[in-house]
Amino acid sequence: MQGLIMESQLLISSILKHADRNFGDREIVSIKADDPLHRCTYAECFRRTRQLANALAKLGLSRGDRIATLAWNDHRHLECYYAIAGSGFVCHTINPRLFPEQIIFIINHAEDRWIFVDPLIVPLLEKIAAQISAVEGFVVMTDDAHMPETSLKNAVSYEALIGSESDLFEWPVFDERTASALCYTSGTTGDPKGVLYDHRSTILHAYAEVMPDTLNLGSTDCVLPVVPLFHVNAWGIPYCAVMVGSKLVFPGPKMGDGETLYNLLEQEQVTLALGVPTVWLALLQYARDTGQKLNHLQRTVIGGAAVPEAMIREFRDAHDVTVIQAWGMTEMSPLGTASTPKSGSENWTPDEYIQMQTKAGRSVFGVEMRIVNDAGVELPWDGVAYGALQVRGPWICSGYFKLEGNSDAHTDDGWFDTGDVATINPDGYMAITDRTKDVIKSGGEWISSIDVENTAVGHDGVAEAAVIGVPHPKWTERPLLVIIRAEGVELSRDDMLAWLEGKIAKWWIPDDVVFVDEIPHTATGKIKKIELRKQFADYRLPS
Ligand code: ADP
Repeated sequence: MQGLIMESQLLISSILKHADRNFGDREIVSIKADDPLHRCTYAECFRRTRQLANALAKLGLSRGDRIATLAWNDHRHLECYYAIAGSGFVCHTINPRLFPEQIIFIINHAEDRWIFVDPLIVPLLEKIAAQISAVEGFVVMTDDAHMPETSLKNAVSYEALIGSESDLFEWPVFDERTASALCYTSGTTGDPKGVLYDHRSTILHAYAEVMPDTLNLGSTDCVLPVVPLFHVNAWGIPYCAVMVGSKLVFPGPKMGDGETLYNLLEQEQVTLALGVPTVWLALLQYARDTGQKLNHLQRTVIGGAAVPEAMIREFRDAHDVTVIQAWGMTEMSPLGTASTPKSGSENWTPDEYIQMQTKAGRSVFGVEMRIVNDAGVELPWDGVAYGALQVRGPWICSGYFKLEGNSDAHTDDGWFDTGDVATINPDGYMAITDRTKDVIKSGGEWISSIDVENTAVGHDGVAEAAVIGVPHPKWTERPLLVIIRAEGVELSRDDMLAWLEGKIAKWWIPDDVVFVDEIPHTATGKIKKIELRKQFADYRLPS
């Protein structure tokens, strides 16, 4: 017997309709190439979204067609998110920091028909125009007054495209499993792979994200996503923050600038900000150098890479801000876990609380996780055993775009292998120790490069640290610590080794420390260990 509940499709346009009706006066603040501080309300933004939907309807597209965006975080990009997906097309966000060859591959693989591009990114597309000739036209995200001279085919300014359109639009109703957005993984090896989200997965993910033990997001919040709209849906913020009516602050192209971020956080009274560890380094540094405190920010969600303990402490001690570490990936929409307290935490000491925050966190309802050994046998949640981390759930990809049924990351029994190695403690807190491919195996035992790196960056003299395995005649592999010194600091190999002493297991202490000026990063800001290992291929440990 089935229940007697209405048939109602979970569609992205329903978020917009709800927010428009209930939070029409909520503000969206954006830094843009053509406006240093643009303000509009939800109602204005959604009126423009309907105009854009009417403009898209005239382009001769069919449901499921891909329309790409190459743009920074601002209200126009948000309008694209809703107009494209709400119309039944697929919003394909592209990371402008990828290599040109990757961007060419992605655009052709996705068969993007039109591209919305930020004026600052137009030169990048002009350079590759000949290789993406199937694209029918380009919308430059500005007005006619600021429209750059461009050789791009059928180029039109965003404002000219929508300007004369009606602001009445009836959002179509279709199956909630219809594809809504597409995002390619950066692909440290091989070609990038496309993750295709649908309306249902997006809405379920948004519900999970606003829950108290996840982001605890509501209409009185003001949210600043420093995470880009061009990568993994800015961690779902465009959907979940709009769903509950939070004020939104978009930093445009100024995402990495500590001073801009500080001023935005203060002036707009931001309560929740989200970003990868590197952006917070810039912000904390600026606050430290200028002797200023963050007066409104209550919590910051940090993920995408392990969060150093020193960062969690500085946010708490200098700014009274609670760090929520989160873990996830492109294939997971991206949210998997959040490090928030659970019952019993009332009795934790401040240090125990910090220990919880240094972990990736507990799985949110909707994400099941398990750790398995090399033979695929499930390992206990004892905080000690570590193995390959696998997940499943309604917002985790079941395959890759145009590679359906051809993924070696999916197991026969329906789990997705994340490529991460982790432990899970009896309370359900998961901690990432490494990427499977980066694991250092010494004398048959794994060394957690993430723990070693985090302990190293706890030293004031270290700006960035990376640990890689190098061949060793007796132990197979031993860790080598690669360090960028903080500016103007004297720091020797022996200082560093002495600092690690007692803070990590003795046999994890690297055999050597080398100092470099630069550490290679991927387009999403992660350390490129493959590159680093190549760089040190001829390196020999001191005997
Ligand atoms: P890509 O850079 O290929 O797009 P993602 O942005 O999807 O990849 O990043 C996912 C990966 O980032 C995870 O599999 C994990 O290795 C790493 N990661 C994300 N959050 C954390 C975290 N809190 N701690 C450690 N690693 C993390």
